[in-house]
Amino acid sequence: MSYVTGLKCRECGKDYPIAPRVVCDCIAPLEIMYDVAGWKRDLTREKIASRPPNMWRYRELLPLSNDPTVSLNVGYTPLVNAPRLAKAIGCRKLWIKNDAVNSPTLSFKDRVVAVALNKAIEFGFKIIACASTGNLANAVAAHSAAAGLQAYVFIPEDLEEAKIIGSAVYGAKVVKIRGNYDQVNRLCSQIAGEHGWGFVNVNLRAFYAEGSKTLAYEVAEQLGWRLPDQVVVPMAGGSLITRVGKAFDELTEIGLVEGKPYILYGAQATGCSPITTATKAGHREIEPQRPSTIARSLAIGNPADGYYATGAIMASGGAGEDVSDPEVVAGMKLLAETEGILGETAAGVTVAVAQKLLASGRMNPDAETVLCVTGNGLKTLDALQNQLDLGLTIRPRLEEFEEQVLNAVQASVPVAVS
Ligand SMILES: *Cc1c(COP(=O)(O)O)cnc(C)c1O
Ligand SMILES: [Zn+2]
Repeated sequence: MSYVTGLKCRECGKDYPIAPRVVCDCIAPLEIMYDVAGWKRDLTREKIASRPPNMWRYRELLPLSNDPTVSLNVGYTPLVNAPRLAKAIGCRKLWIKNDAVNSPTLSFKDRVVAVALNKAIEFGFKIIACASTGNLANAVAAHSAAAGLQAYVFIPEDLEEAKIIGSAVYGAKVVKIRGNYDQVNRLCSQIAGEHGWGFVNVNLRAFYAEGSKTLAYEVAEQLGWRLPDQVVVPMAGGSLITRVGKAFDELTEIGLVEGKPYILYGAQATGCSPITTATKAGHREIEPQRPSTIARSLAIGNPADGYYATGAIMASGGAGEDVSDPEVVAGMKLLAETEGILGETAAGVTVAVAQKLLASGRMNPDAETVLCVTGNGLKTLDALQNQLDLGLTIRPRLEEFEEQVLNAVQASVPVAVS
């Protein structure tokens, strides 16, 4: 059933057989090659639509050699029509791709781990590991537990407590590194080279990254096999945004959707904005930064796919934008208040960036727009600490309710009588 034909260097074009290989001899990243003629011959909308609602409905487009054996119930998250948020930020046709409810660990990282873990099993790895800003660690820990494999997750020591507990609970070995993500990642590259473990985002990265494409396949299918006009994507390592574009291009080439231009907008927090800083300066090269932001899931100062993310944004005619930490919190609250969706800090980044791009006229308010909400706010409640009115306490007495709650509410908000 496999449609994978090999690996190819993204820069020099050298071919390699399918293997857990990190980079080409020229040190550029490797890309999966597929039998595109086979896709065109075998794939139809009806065939895909007849399958269960999870990411494996697109399995021919993913780099496994056999059918998946673990992580079977991932993906096919809701594409939510968002008219109240649309009105609040000033655009007309808005959807939220809600990966805050992805299964089982409530972020889009369930998709990439699902592919990497099945591939790791094909390769025969017994220990699964990752360098993570939090969500990836949660996904690696949970999926490995369910697959009966030992997981090691390497994280910066200052992550949100919910993300640390949400890895340890699955029995994963959590290794906290005194340093930032980029230092964690460097260490993991050394371990992968020395110890032969399956690091989902190091030696399995070429396969891992392909899992991101399923988010965009779903968007197109959920829109009725159409591409949206524009998509706003939060960026950490810059992989997801490149795969959204790749997925749209593949669907077009296979003939599952009609080809049309789409624009990619990349979102970061100002406290860690190496990719948007590059696009604003009009070049593709990334200058590494030292991260300092509450959007910890996006805090990668030296993004592995930064050069390809800037390329994808620029080629689409899009832009990169970043927002401050207070704007991130405001974005989280706005999403929750208008659409009833509690996204994490990365979602706050995405909403606030969309708002900023619309306000400055750089994003078309009449075009069909999708915001990617990639993680769940229950994991980043610390960001909302001291930011909300958490209510008042009264004794269980009617007079006290009427005096302190009802009168206070009526004083501030006129109650509509209908
Ligand atoms: C990892 C992550 C991203 C970005 O992923 P990249 O592919 O590394 O750019 C976005 N949102 C959340 C919540 C994440 O955890
Ligand atoms: Zn090469």
